Amino acid sequence: MNELPEWLSDSRQTAPLAAMLAPGSSYALESLAAEARVVTMRRFGRTMTLYAPLYLSNHCSSGCVYCGFASDRTTLRRRLEPDEIERELFALKKLGVTDLLLLTGERTGAAGFDYLRTSVEIASKHMQRVSVEAFPMSTAEYRELAESGCTGITIYQETYDLRRYKELHRWGPKKDYIHRLETPERALEGGMKTVGLGVLLGLSDPLDDALMLFRHVRHLHRTYWRAGISVSFPRMRPQTGGYAPPFCVSDHVLARMIFAFRIALPDTDLVLSTRESPAFRDGMAGLGITRMSIASRTTVGGYDEENAAGEKGQFDISDDRSAAEFCSALRAKNIEPVFKNWEPAYNGPSSGYSGNKPRQEQPCR
Ligand code: SF4
Repeated sequence: MNELPEWLSDSRQTAPLAAMLAPGSSYALESLAAEARVVTMRRFGRTMTLYAPLYLSNHCSSGCVYCGFASDRTTLRRRLEPDEIERELFALKKLGVTDLLLLTGERTGAAGFDYLRTSVEIASKHMQRVSVEAFPMSTAEYRELAESGCTGITIYQETYDLRRYKELHRWGPKKDYIHRLETPERALEGGMKTVGLGVLLGLSDPLDDALMLFRHVRHLHRTYWRAGISVSFPRMRPQTGGYAPPFCVSDHVLARMIFAFRIALPDTDLVLSTRESPAFRDGMAGLGITRMSIASRTTVGGYDEENAAGEKGQFDISDDRSAAEFCSALRAKNIEPVFKNWEPAYNGPSSGYSGNKPRQEQPCR
């Protein structure tokens, strides 16, 4: 296996964040919340960008111990066909959704690259922004996906603790830690404009994972300065398979993490999904979080009633409010829901565009 990159263990950049996150930190939660609020208002205003996830398939070749779609689960396997995808998109557009995240498991014969590219082509005809959370790909594949209308990827390392990573990923392509870690670079060099990072909170020590996640963000910011980087904070949820995470991440710990990341990364989108409860999501709006999912389904399809097959999702969601209910809650906090934050004219690599180039070191003058 390739060696771990140096930036992953470079603690020089993480001291301020570590001081805010440490158990027994001298930073009171209330003062962090107040500062995070000021930074959020200054950089993002009173807005919340909204997106919806659409699971294309639950076929998967990997054996992640914490996932309801792992290949040893007895879940009914299926994928959406083009006419079903069209119906899902129609149902999502009726909710006002224009920003879509397409999801699949690890690459299989039933749901591989060609299937994903076709799905992106269909979705990009209807949505203003399409991104994918799928298997790691090559730079050439990312370039093809960008040409089909995909503008970004989400790829969580799940945990940066190499030993835990090996235990949790029992078989399949996802066992390759380094290949996954280097996925954002390949995506950006292939022409993707945005990358979403995160760890699955509960799998490993949350403080260690948060610090390494921060280093990953800083590394990408420095190397691919034109790229839009976002950070998500998914906590483990009940799922088929019943895996119980060894680390409990309380609301208090998660809130502290969100505030600290907002202060340390003032321009980075911070994302909170419907894994979290309505009360927690409402509480974090305006205090650091700038992007949220709405009306989510974690089953394959599920927005269009005809496609809903009643199967189990990848995990249980917590905030099951409708899009309209959620928008009302945001407006009650004087936060404007934003469905369109992207012009389709920016989709796909523009003529002559060859992806994000790593920043070259400049000689001292
Ligand atoms: S987390 Fe992804 S790769 Fe792992 S088993 Fe689930 S769907 Fe497959």
